[in-house]
Amino acid sequence: MSITENQILDALRAVRDPERGGDIVSLGMVSGVVIRDGNVGFAIEVEPERGPRLEPLRKSAERAVEALPDVVSVTAVLTAEANAPSGSRGGRRGEAAPHSAAHPGAAHPAPGAGQALAPGVRAIVAVASGKGGVGKSTVAANLALGMKANGLRVGVLDADIYGPSMPRMLGISGRPQMADAKILRPMENYGLKCMSIGFLVPEDTPMIWRGPMVMSALQQMLRDVAWGELDIMIVDMPPGTGDAQLTMAQQVALAGAVIVSTPQDIALIDARKGLNMFTKVNVPVLGIIENMSYFLCPHCGERSDIFSHGGARREAERLGTDFLGEVPLDLAIRETSDEGRPITVSQPGSPYAQTFRDIAAKVWAKVGGDAPARRAAPRIVVE
Ligand code: ADP
Repeated sequence: MSITENQILDALRAVRDPERGGDIVSLGMVSGVVIRDGNVGFAIEVEPERGPRLEPLRKSAERAVEALPDVVSVTAVLTAEANAPSGSRGGRRGEAAPHSAAHPGAAHPAPGAGQALAPGVRAIVAVASGKGGVGKSTVAANLALGMKANGLRVGVLDADIYGPSMPRMLGISGRPQMADAKILRPMENYGLKCMSIGFLVPEDTPMIWRGPMVMSALQQMLRDVAWGELDIMIVDMPPGTGDAQLTMAQQVALAGAVIVSTPQDIALIDARKGLNMFTKVNVPVLGIIENMSYFLCPHCGERSDIFSHGGARREAERLGTDFLGEVPLDLAIRETSDEGRPITVSQPGSPYAQTFRDIAAKVWAKVGGDAPARRAAPRIVVE
């Protein structure tokens, strides 16, 4: 028998907030309950100043739910999001902040959260990596543009709380505007819709608070943004395989995940950890992309393989997942993405752009997409 949200809330009624003198459910502190094959996640909303001392409360909440039959794993995160006064985050800096459709006490109707929260989005795919600096965001941006070039309607959700870089990589500046009182309009460039966690969480937020903020910020970015109809949404995940990442993987109804790895780090098992994390929460791993795979000399065009090039292909085979492609280490890839005009859009005729379109087509096929249809007929302008 599978566990229900009510059972979880009942168990959490036994957990008391020692400072407020009541149980955390009656006090309206529990939200965002997600259940996926016995893996349970939820948020406990607290005032920011109390966060650091409430770790024991978080642990007791996890233990209370762990004790239930049929529960495989429990991830509770402390979050300050819903208690922030409306508009205070961005508002303080004169920016639009999405309305926090607060739901005190009641848990979100969240199982399979992604699609429920963003019903017009057909498939959500995470781009993840076992550690930072492997080019995850660069690959995510080019992958999204490759999908767009293949004729799909694409959104990019930048959830990399530790270094949100999608707006910069996609050449987007400014802040999102409100579409109405509650809903934010996504930013747009190169035909992609984009929303970044960097717009919700102020840059000066201490690292320790970023993880806990992830859960509600992610929900907001799905629920309170006018994404419209999209074939696919690419989520740039935070690097690593800790609690924040696990919570996200549970929180969003992911159609699958793509792991980005360098030849070296596959050997150092970081990518394997990434893969295991998704398997643990039953998200299909669509495959591995080897980034900075080999080096093409910009002067003579000669190719040199780097360290253990090919490791990702071998590792993918060994782990029974697919190898989706290799992207070389090339200055042009770095310069274009760092300048906000990724190679797939700025040099569409280059072999690298082709590589990303090929990888994009594989990923789309793997989430059950039909052949990339060119839905929008080209606009014919008669001069
Ligand atoms: P991550 O998201 O994994 O932290 P980024 O995508 O931010 O990594 O990439 C880190 C740096 O490496 C960036 O300056 C980026 O331009 C560069 N980079 C990423 N992939 C490549 C590549 N294939 N060739 C050259 N530079 C790359």
